[in-house]
Amino acid sequence: DGTAGILGKGRDWIIDEMKASGLRGRGGAGFPTGLKWSFMPKESDGRPAYLVINADESEPATCKDREIMRHDPHTLIEGALIASFAMGAHTSYIYIRGEYIREREALQAAIDEAYDAGMIGKNACGSGWDFDLYLHHGAGAYICGEETSLLESLEGKKGMPRMKPPFPAGAGLYGCPTTVNNVESIAVVPTILRRGASWFSGFGRKNNSGTKLMGLTGHVNTPSVFEEEMSLSVREIIEKHGGGIRGGWDNLKAIIPGGASCPILPKDKLEDAIFDFDWMRENKSSFGTGCMIVMDQNTDVVKAVWRLSKFFKHESCGQCTPCREGTGWMMRVMDRLVRGEAEVEEIDMLLDVTKQVEGHTICALGDAAAWPIQGLIRHFRGEIEDRIKAKKTGRMGAMAAE
Ligand code: SF4
Repeated sequence: DGTAGILGKGRDWIIDEMKASGLRGRGGAGFPTGLKWSFMPKESDGRPAYLVINADESEPATCKDREIMRHDPHTLIEGALIASFAMGAHTSYIYIRGEYIREREALQAAIDEAYDAGMIGKNACGSGWDFDLYLHHGAGAYICGEETSLLESLEGKKGMPRMKPPFPAGAGLYGCPTTVNNVESIAVVPTILRRGASWFSGFGRKNNSGTKLMGLTGHVNTPSVFEEEMSLSVREIIEKHGGGIRGGWDNLKAIIPGGASCPILPKDKLEDAIFDFDWMRENKSSFGTGCMIVMDQNTDVVKAVWRLSKFFKHESCGQCTPCREGTGWMMRVMDRLVRGEAEVEEIDMLLDVTKQVEGHTICALGDAAAWPIQGLIRHFRGEIEDRIKAKKTGRMGAMAAE
């Protein structure tokens, strides 16, 4: 639908429009997409450039990109062509999560159709630009969603994150300039360019613009994935798309805003909460992927965070000591806190260890493991202490923790 016309407007126009749209990366970090594209070299030094699309969606509770790949794969393919052209890349790879078998089939069928119709391949869409798109299936490791680990895996090596710098725009896939973008960031590109940057930036608050695929899981009446304007209130999102909290708004206990690594927020913080990047950051959490876990009053939040600790411990690649040792240590302490078999002083010791892991590792998995525990202690310290005291006085049965 006029794709060649979009390419005909040139690289600079596309990147300027993307910058003006205010699109921030939809994979969790929220880095401005247009700016990221502009880091790619304008002139080739002889090395090819690559666009790599991160479809390794593995964060617990995040299940939005798969809807694009299942039901709307062509928009991702079109976005891949336009983005690659804007960055001078003739080749793009989509790295898809190991467990996404049906999604891979749907996407591969769409890629084949696009080749057959001349939309990609030599002289893609009659634009004069040659473009190849390959789908690569991962083996199911969470850490391969980290961009440099993904590149290692794509090169056929063990999925272990690389030290940065060099950043992928300088030396990424096979040592060549590479941009890694999330599926949704690429799939929304054609719509932004057709409707215009100002249309997209008209949604949401400044610096948080656009629409976004979001998800609701947990104790809502109708768990769902949906597209919505940024910067609505948390309450409106839950009521409009989740059918409200199970048992009503007052039965809400807490949310984890956007994927397992985002610190938990309790109900008293959520009355006027805005669901976007800046509000979540200002309130010591993170918007992440915009896929919210909702927990009602029945939830054992200590146990919920313990379960996340277990996940991060399992997924640590083991390359750096604070993460390899720290995730296991934190999980074991969380395990005792769930059962109340700890001393109250250990809560601060645990908090201290999370600070020693955070920011001291090669990739963000160390931070991701530390943040849920920090959020728990910040907002639910009383609940942890009560459990320890109950255990000491033999009232543990009432706490229902196993
Ligand atoms: Fe591996 Fe963890 Fe270090 Fe990341 S932080 S490189 S997952 S050991």
